[in-house]
Amino acid sequence: MNQSARSSTTGDAASPFDDLGVAVSSQEPLAHHTWLGLGGAASWFCEPIDTGALARVVGRCHERRIPLRVIGGGSNVLVPAGGFDGMVVRLSAPAFCGIDVQRPAVKVGAGAKLVHVVSAAVQAGLSGLETLVDVPGTVGGALVGNAGGHGGDIGERVADVTVMLVDGTTEVRDRSRLAFESRWSNLDDCLIIGCRLELDEEDPTALTKRMQKQWIVGRSTQPGGTRTVAMMFKDPLGTTAESLIAQSGARDLRAGDASVYAPHANYVVAGPHCSSDDVRTLVETVRSRVREKLGVELTPQIEVW
Ligand SMILES: Cc1cc2nc3c(=O)[nH]c(=O)nc-3n(C[C@H](O)[C@H](O)[C@H](O)COP(=O)(O)OP(=O)(O)OC[C@H]3O[C@@H](n4cnc5c(N)ncnc54)[C@H](O)[C@@H]3O)c2cc1C
Repeated sequence: MNQSARSSTTGDAASPFDDLGVAVSSQEPLAHHTWLGLGGAASWFCEPIDTGALARVVGRCHERRIPLRVIGGGSNVLVPAGGFDGMVVRLSAPAFCGIDVQRPAVKVGAGAKLVHVVSAAVQAGLSGLETLVDVPGTVGGALVGNAGGHGGDIGERVADVTVMLVDGTTEVRDRSRLAFESRWSNLDDCLIIGCRLELDEEDPTALTKRMQKQWIVGRSTQPGGTRTVAMMFKDPLGTTAESLIAQSGARDLRAGDASVYAPHANYVVAGPHCSSDDVRTLVETVRSRVREKLGVELTPQIEVW
């Protein structure tokens, strides 16, 4: 990978993206874009202003075989210290963050924050998403991992998803082509641009109360006062990762400056001197402890890039 690439706005001709009319930066620190605040730089990074610009970048990556990733809210990724040798795209432009109520559905952009979508639906008197109010991140990230909790997941409400394929073309996938399972979906072969969520009409006052209750419950089960956290494992069928970690005595484990958040043991907290390796080591150590003590193989929730 060409490490001497510069932003197309600087006028240097070293980047493979210079002729696309898209502002592309080089050596963008990804730590700024993740909840853990860790990790190295992306070789290239951009926030396209619309689908056309996105298609040009995606197509160029395909032609030149440049690895491409999308980052949403960065609440579920661990970037290694060495960074990511490829293009990282963030769908933060207004063209990708729309929330359009089309009763009883809501059409949303992949870059919209999930919490904003939930609030808009509740305000409009549309129910079905309230249990997701405490899930950090964007719609795109939520669709990829079928985000949810004990009260349901986003996949249950998806009518169709608009995606971009690796060559820059777009298509709409309806329900018959989509599969959602526990913290998994089959949307792992594309860029998600947006989706339509089918909701139910309900009294906005009752809905608001339910959302507020969920918010309070959610807050009480998440580490407060810090954003440098991540969820470590998916809940296995019939139990929670948190209870298994506690039962196995892994609550007090640490690796370097990464520690298990003792009150809610399925979270890792990154201290001020924490490295990506510390987090990775801690996740593996906790996983081994649960395997040795309880014979259960936990599946990591956080995705290592
Ligand atoms: C405090 C805390 C609480 C959490 N609570 C929950 C919870 O209750 N339930 C739950 O399910 N999860 C939870 N999580 C995990 C995480 O918030 C979810 O997985 C969330 O949906 C990730 O969204 P994101 O936008 O941050 O995705 P990111 O972390 O940015 O990305 C996650 C994955 O999605 C891909 N992706 C993102 N956007 C797109 C797109 N537009 N197109 C294609 N791929 C894309 C990325 O490439 C990556 O592979 C929690 C995490 C934290 C830190």
